[in-house]
Amino acid sequence: MARLIISADGPEKFDIWKKAFAEVAPDLSVLSWYESQTRLQPSDYVLVWSPEADHYPALATAKAILCTGAGVDHLLNAPGFPRHIPLVRMGGEQTGQLMADYVTWAAIALLRQARTWALQQAEQRWASNTIARTTDTTRIGVMGLGHLGGYVATHLARVGFRVSGWKRSPATLTGVTVYAGQEALSAFLETADILVNLLPSTPQTDGIISKEFLKRLPRGAGFINVGRGRHVVQTDLINALNTGILCGAVLDVVTPEPLPAASPLWTHPSIIITPHVASEASPLMQAQYVAEVIGQMERGEKPALLCDPQRGY
Ligand code: NDP
Repeated sequence: MARLIISADGPEKFDIWKKAFAEVAPDLSVLSWYESQTRLQPSDYVLVWSPEADHYPALATAKAILCTGAGVDHLLNAPGFPRHIPLVRMGGEQTGQLMADYVTWAAIALLRQARTWALQQAEQRWASNTIARTTDTTRIGVMGLGHLGGYVATHLARVGFRVSGWKRSPATLTGVTVYAGQEALSAFLETADILVNLLPSTPQTDGIISKEFLKRLPRGAGFINVGRGRHVVQTDLINALNTGILCGAVLDVVTPEPLPAASPLWTHPSIIITPHVASEASPLMQAQYVAEVIGQMERGEKPALLCDPQRGY
């Protein structure tokens, strides 16, 4: 029987995980990392989010590390993290659906200038705003067409947006015009009335959303960040909003998190902030995905979302 040691979310949440796994994978032996009698064996899987550095030596003896997040930059960048142990990112159908719902909501919020309504409501002021675009006349560009980006792009196409996407390597995706590589970046950006960032954080992508980059978008574009705060040069984003280069932004990820009370992002009239909640599947759905991955690895199969530490995602 395979064993899964739960380190994610600390000792307090162990019972929630245990219950979820009992429901979806009763054959899996599930133990708490924090029980003094738990001793990691080389055949064990470990479920983590952001383990303490003093856990790393023990993690280096696991069969595989499974992360409750789809982004694993915080692990790969941590000094001493055992990068040689197979690391599998969070996936599953529900993470894609949640992200697709969030991005659809954010895109429509930008089209309908929902931030203006919220500001007016706070002042009890009744005023109408003019709507320039509808879904069918809006071009959305999704940066990163991986597990989440691919799901989001095809969903947006079904909703009726005109969708393109950008990734490293060429691919085909139903209803989506795909641009690949650095040489195609300008052509991609020129087509994005709304830009969605779903890139992983890597040395190549951190800081990519800068002044020069934003200028290549159609004037008055909208911006949705669901990737990482580190992708954005924050002062360049604020300047772009203040000068009409961007019409508005919806930010689910920022730097740092939690966003400090003094940050100008909180009160900016063209920014909607959400607290990194775009795609967090329920423990039951996460447990189902983790159990599937363990099943694949036990059969000697390679999980689809196995991280490549060289590539950084
Ligand atoms: P994947 O690893 O499945 O996909 C990454 C995509 O980005 C791939 O299409 C890849 O291209 C592309 N990419 C990577 N580097 C480059 C580059 N230098 N230039 C162009 N394209 C590049 O990731 P996911 O879709 O699962 O997740 C994406 C990110 O979303 C996560 O890393 C995380 O930061 C963020 N996230 C945010 C959440 C939230 O709630 N806000 C929740 C979960 C994740 P290729 O396919 O060619 O390799």
